[in-house]
Amino acid sequence: MIPRELYRLLQCPTCRSRNLYVTNTAVHCADCRNAYLRHDGYIDLMPRDTAFDYVSKYVTEEEHMAEELDYRDLAPPLLAAGVRQRVLRRMLRLSSGDYVFDNGCGNGRFAVWNADAVRLMVGSDPATLYADAAVQSIALTQADSRRLPFADASFDKALSVDVLEHFPLDVIDDYLAETARVLRPGGRFAAFSNTKEMSRLQPLINASRRLGQWFVQRGVYDFEREARRKSDHVKALRTFDDVVAALERSGMRVVEVRFWNTVITSFVEHVVMKLGEAVIARNRAAKAAATAAPQVETSEGTQRELVARRRIRHQLNPRSPVYWALYAVTLLMELDVWLWGHLRTGPYFVLAEKLPEGNDAL
Ligand SMILES: [Zn+2]
Repeated sequence: MIPRELYRLLQCPTCRSRNLYVTNTAVHCADCRNAYLRHDGYIDLMPRDTAFDYVSKYVTEEEHMAEELDYRDLAPPLLAAGVRQRVLRRMLRLSSGDYVFDNGCGNGRFAVWNADAVRLMVGSDPATLYADAAVQSIALTQADSRRLPFADASFDKALSVDVLEHFPLDVIDDYLAETARVLRPGGRFAAFSNTKEMSRLQPLINASRRLGQWFVQRGVYDFEREARRKSDHVKALRTFDDVVAALERSGMRVVEVRFWNTVITSFVEHVVMKLGEAVIARNRAAKAAATAAPQVETSEGTQRELVARRRIRHQLNPRSPVYWALYAVTLLMELDVWLWGHLRTGPYFVLAEKLPEGNDAL
């Protein structure tokens, strides 16, 4: 969706001019004369003059990732994604007048889940693996987070989910500086990411992992899809102190933090859900095996998981018992954030505030 209001916020990502005009096919910069094409549901606002060193694998391997991510269909916010959604939503306190920006929105699911609570929801990502619901309901821009196509102070709030752990340090600094630039002073930024810090509750978490491994060794399921999703996690911010320092370098200050010690969550993810997926996919696969040739690109485990997810997704409406069962499991996983949210560990939710101009971090 490209709402009229989006155009008011734009600036040229190449020369930073606000001297833009819109035609049927593109947004044009009157100063550097670059044209930014309007596609079906989004505008390509990538900077035209810059070749960056770092490029996300979601961009370089877009086609392959598209197959594995299963990105076009949106499920409701449940399980680990549901916990992220619930905690970030509470931190951001969205209101109906807010202009909100999801920086690195991926398929746009978090933006979609929150779009109805705000005035304008804008998502940007350099890869255009957008969900159908995102194309329909949020303002999508293809953009590079190091050179955002928005004017200073365009947004009241910004969101960043599962982004920072992918970037090397110089990209993180650019990403946060640009995020701060497009936030108004006093604007709020909520992020979920991951450092390398170990939890004091790690032995409990590892117990679930070992039980999961036991099932993997017996061929009941595997974690190949998770491994691939995490394959480019750099975690350049190694500790939460690094996170605080990076935010301060960008002109933001930390307001609130909750850590996610995944004690209950690990048991759910490594054992309960994987067993459920294996059972559901097995019934389904037996029926499908006779007719369909298996896809070659992805492993059996990944296929099994995708089959289970697609199958479950059809039942994920608020009238179905499956939905409410998964919702209950989501609340159980969220308990981890409430019970030990003060204990430092890798996964964290942070809320930061953009300081007024000229105000050094206090
Ligand atoms: Zn320009």
